[in-house]
Amino acid sequence: MKIICVGRNYVAHAKELNNEIPDEPVLFMKPDSALLRNNDPFYIPEWTNEVHHEIELIVRIKKLGKNIDKKFANRYYSEIGIGIDFTARDLQNALKDKGLPWEKSKAFDFSAVICPEFVPVESLPDRNAIHFRLDINGKTVQEGNSALMIFSIDDIISHVSKYFTLKIGDLIYTGTPAGVGAVKIGDRLEGFLEGQKKFDFLVK
Ligand code: ZN
Repeated sequence: MKIICVGRNYVAHAKELNNEIPDEPVLFMKPDSALLRNNDPFYIPEWTNEVHHEIELIVRIKKLGKNIDKKFANRYYSEIGIGIDFTARDLQNALKDKGLPWEKSKAFDFSAVICPEFVPVESLPDRNAIHFRLDINGKTVQEGNSALMIFSIDDIISHVSKYFTLKIGDLIYTGTPAGVGAVKIGDRLEGFLEGQKKFDFLVK
């Protein structure tokens, strides 16, 4: 399986990092070794001093697809989850400044947190306006709603599948809302999807 991530998919987040508003989805990937499951603790790697949290909605692909038309994109997933796209921002900025690929700062081991259980799309109050948030040590630090995405889930699936064949079990991290910031040892991260807690783990 592969993990496809969308960057800069919320206007307020693109602006907080002084990035332009993209006219097509900004894509990058993480390998399967990036997954952090089952509420396992996250260990800050020794080579970075600034790991940022990015809470994101995750789509799990359930059907093989290539060149998927946007109007059929909803047939390719039936479950939504949340997770974190951990980002070594200091390294990412250094690589961006040199015009180099971001991979090391984004795709490192355990940088892709995934909630233990996904929810069926039909159980959501509105599949086009999915609310999610991240609390750190009991305080809400990021809040998002998929209605505010620059590119909708269906747009993303259609765009991604032009370049990469989607396979059963592939995951798409759909971008983070504003409010990203550094985590520190001892932090407790709790993620909520429509008010229901979906992950809860510690930073070590
Ligand atoms: Zn992200």
